Amino acid sequence: EVGVLAVVGRPNVGKSTLVNRILGRRAAVVEDTPGVTRDRVSYDAEWRGTDFKLVDTGGWEADVEGIDSAIASQAQIAVQLADAVVFVVDGQVGLTATDERIVKMLRSSGKPVTVAVNKIDDQVSEYMAAEFWKLGLGEPYPVSAMHGRGVGDLLDVALDKL
Ligand code: GDP
Ligand code: MG
Repeated sequence: EVGVLAVVGRPNVGKSTLVNRILGRRAAVVEDTPGVTRDRVSYDAEWRGTDFKLVDTGGWEADVEGIDSAIASQAQIAVQLADAVVFVVDGQVGLTATDERIVKMLRSSGKPVTVAVNKIDDQVSEYMAAEFWKLGLGEPYPVSAMHGRGVGDLLDVALDKL
């Protein structure tokens, strides 16, 4: 049995781009428009000799209906079925109220979480990851899913929690 790593976060933060980067191919659908995908798609992945299942999820919309409406969502199911979670946030946008609501749910799931601060495309922007310490989920890892920066370090940490 291989471990299952779920990738969750708000729409448009770059979850599918990160999944593609990890897979080394364009399997997950990347959208410029937020909230289009609501699927939960599982891929066979491998990193430094570790086989695992990587699960891409649609956007986690904690919108007007609140987090309760997300209980039945694919992202929620993905977390329940996962052994560990990568929570992706957008370093260019910064911390949002929706991020904080997602954290509450992740906490109640009891699953180990690694925070990936995406869209940190260059070293100059790395300081922007620091505000995500506020989430209380430990060290936030700056990554650029688009360029591949930091993704190896993130995986080393996230897979260690499987
Ligand atoms: P998802 O909704 O969370 O799956 O996000 P997507 O992977 O579909 O990406 C949403 C948008 O963010 C797309 O336009 C991506 O090209 C862009 N994006 C994803 N990763 C990065 C990144 O590391 N840097 C930058 N600048 N843009 C990114
Ligand atoms: Mg996506």
